[in-house]
Amino acid sequence: MKEVDYIIVGQGIAGTMLANQLLQDNFSIYVIDKFEPNASSNIATGVVNPVTGRKMVKSWMIDEVLPFAKKTYRSLESFLQYSFFHDKEIYKVFSSVEDVQIWNAKRNDSAYANYLGDIISTQEANISIEAPFGIGIIKNACWLDVPLMTKLFRQYLLKKEVLMEAHFDIDLLEISTDICYKNIKAKGIIFCEGYRACNNPYFNWIPFTLAKGEQLLIHSDDLALTSIVNKNIFLVPKGNAVYSVGSTFIWNDTTETVTADGRKEITDKLSKITSASYAIIEEKAGIRPTMRDRRPVIGQHPIHSNIFIFNGLGTKGVSLSPYFAQHFSGYLRGNNELLQEISLQRLVE
Ligand SMILES: Cc1cc2nc3c(=O)[nH]c(=O)nc-3n(C[C@H](O)[C@H](O)[C@H](O)COP(=O)(O)OP(=O)(O)OC[C@H]3O[C@@H](n4cnc5c(N)ncnc54)[C@H](O)[C@@H]3O)c2cc1C
Repeated sequence: MKEVDYIIVGQGIAGTMLANQLLQDNFSIYVIDKFEPNASSNIATGVVNPVTGRKMVKSWMIDEVLPFAKKTYRSLESFLQYSFFHDKEIYKVFSSVEDVQIWNAKRNDSAYANYLGDIISTQEANISIEAPFGIGIIKNACWLDVPLMTKLFRQYLLKKEVLMEAHFDIDLLEISTDICYKNIKAKGIIFCEGYRACNNPYFNWIPFTLAKGEQLLIHSDDLALTSIVNKNIFLVPKGNAVYSVGSTFIWNDTTETVTADGRKEITDKLSKITSASYAIIEEKAGIRPTMRDRRPVIGQHPIHSNIFIFNGLGTKGVSLSPYFAQHFSGYLRGNNELLQEISLQRLVE
């Protein structure tokens, strides 16, 4: 029998960042994950955009979560000795004069000083993007190669002999003062199953509003971009003339398959910003574990005190997971309460 502090079920970005944090805080862990190529973390574009929407509003808690995420990914890069995290600016392509006015108004607000930069023309940017109203530079953005990071962390866990690559069968879970699963005994179990939490009998009552997303991987010698471009879609340069382009949002559809409609939506949006030629090299679809109130869902099961959840990262797994993994680890150590906004408890009261 192997004895650990916590079993973690799921090793997408949620399980990965939590495992990393718990190990740093000297907890012993055992991770169980069935590798799913369509898991949201294997599909994610991986962009952190600090200022979103037509009104260009700062993402929730971005001033707190972004510096912590950057620090965490950089230290994980040096630990795993691989490059997977990239500081990038986002070129926000304006759609109208009103967009420019909103941008300029926000630029006068000191709260946006870290994020909103100059407005430039396509000629100044020297890119093959159509932007008659100009381009606003969003500073302090970044992208993470999520599948690469989770794969490297998985290899590390395998080497440490603390990862079982298998489906977690909930019928085999034994709950008493301790948790037992097959030959593993633990103080507690933390579910990081992404949208599959909907099939977990302990958490299937949580009001997820799942959002399917599709994206394309394209090859284009004509585009020659070094920054991320955003206008209704994100165009992310991944190196070697390869770009990810996406994503779509389809609510409450849990089919993990790509569709002709998804491809058309993305290629139509792409054709509105560039006439560069390209070839589609891959199409992907996954389900985002999105909550109705757009906040993570973290905490202890209302009846079983040794069962926990770390989920609900929605569209923002990259920016939110490091900060809230640390916050949750602090809670498990008894150092802090969980923020009400992200606590599972908010759904129980
Ligand atoms: C098209 C698309 C684009 C996106 N773009 C971005 C972006 O640009 N930036 C951003 O921050 N976020 C983005 N996201 C969202 C991001 O992908 C999610 O926030 C994040 O991946 C959620 O991670 P997770 O670990 O909670 O879930 P998942 O990635 O789904 O991981 C869950 C893991 O648990 C495993 N698992 C589940 N149940 C079991 C079981 N019973 N037994 C064993 N293993 C199990 C699964 O196999 C999987 O490995 C995007 C998502 C999509 C679909």
